[in-house]
Amino acid sequence: MKIGCPKEIKPQEFRVGLTPHAAREAVAHGHTVLVETGAGTGSGFTDADYIAAGAQIIGTAEELFASADMIVKVKEPQAVERARLREGQVLFTYLHLAPDPDQTRDLLASGVTAIAYETVTDDRGGLPLLAPMSEVAGRLAPQVGAWTLQKANGGRGVLLGGVPGVGPARVVVIGGGVVGTHAGKIAAGMGADVTVLDRSLPRLRYLDDVFGRDFKSVYASAGNTAELVAEADLVIGAVLIPGAAAPKLVSRAQLATMKPGAAIVDVAIDQGGCFETSRATTHQDPIYAVDGIMHYCVANMPGAVARTSTLALGNATLPFLLALADKGWKQACADDPHLLAGLNTHAGHLTYDAVGKALGIDV
Ligand code: NAD
Repeated sequence: MKIGCPKEIKPQEFRVGLTPHAAREAVAHGHTVLVETGAGTGSGFTDADYIAAGAQIIGTAEELFASADMIVKVKEPQAVERARLREGQVLFTYLHLAPDPDQTRDLLASGVTAIAYETVTDDRGGLPLLAPMSEVAGRLAPQVGAWTLQKANGGRGVLLGGVPGVGPARVVVIGGGVVGTHAGKIAAGMGADVTVLDRSLPRLRYLDDVFGRDFKSVYASAGNTAELVAEADLVIGAVLIPGAAAPKLVSRAQLATMKPGAAIVDVAIDQGGCFETSRATTHQDPIYAVDGIMHYCVANMPGAVARTSTLALGNATLPFLLALADKGWKQACADDPHLLAGLNTHAGHLTYDAVGKALGIDV
């Protein structure tokens, strides 16, 4: 099969869909790998790295889309890319179709077989191609929170780990899933006094069993949340209710109860955010103040560490990519219900229930 990896064209996207490691394995499986020139630059991979892995470098996206049987990307195809897709071609990437009727319409019109990273499942009810980006965002959250707390950035001027004779900062993480667990682990590793809140008792049991020595875990009642937020130097928002907007767990009025210059990192901002005062920001202009509380609300946090994110995503997508290339999408999906769960469109038909419900299209 001819596997094609174009350069990402969405603004501020530095990741790439195929690493040189993945290209090498695909070539070893007998496939032809086509990579658009410069596709890996944002993640620190050169054309020469891909050539060394056995891939061919293609000069233009147009040429690449025209000859590849399967397109592997990171972000949803942009309008100009959608116009290049065709029936019989497979698209493997993040799509997030439910809030995006324009993209859905174009993918259906193209006839492409689109498999979305975010709806591929695993045996434990998880989303294995979303998890690596939650791991990245979670581990990044204390790092950006520590920066936001610095005086020159408008913060309280508190060092997360403290120093001998001066106590550490208090970090509160709301939501103890993938993001929250990784945030808690890194904040604790930086020496902060960390509490992770969640509403799921099984999750709290897990956190206590595994991380009980690193951080405290507390049931996320409104009362507990309000008390802990008022005492915190840094609050990290990491809740998710699958398929729904994030619940607002901290109101604007509550900001008045917080310490002046305290920081909020709302990782859940891509689902609307869990603080009433959150609004999405960018890597160029990541923070703003409301009532003296600093907010960091970047919606695509993994983009800040594009190389790590690309490698982490590549590790997760590779087995599925090889299955699709080796067997063809039909057989690969027939053999693996978790990959089949990723199928969103085929030959002009929508094949994913939740997207159909969200957009009022028959599935
Ligand atoms: P997850 O499903 O693994 O974890 C979410 C946790 O929130 C669960 O443990 C759940 O029990 C808990 N929860 C739900 N409602 C709660 C409430 N009211 N109070 C306390 N806890 C509650 O999800 P995740 O992978 O950790 O993702 C968390 C959020 O981070 C999502 O919105 C995700 O889209 C987002 N995210 C953002 C970025 C970014 O760049 N900003 C990157 C990756 C993930």
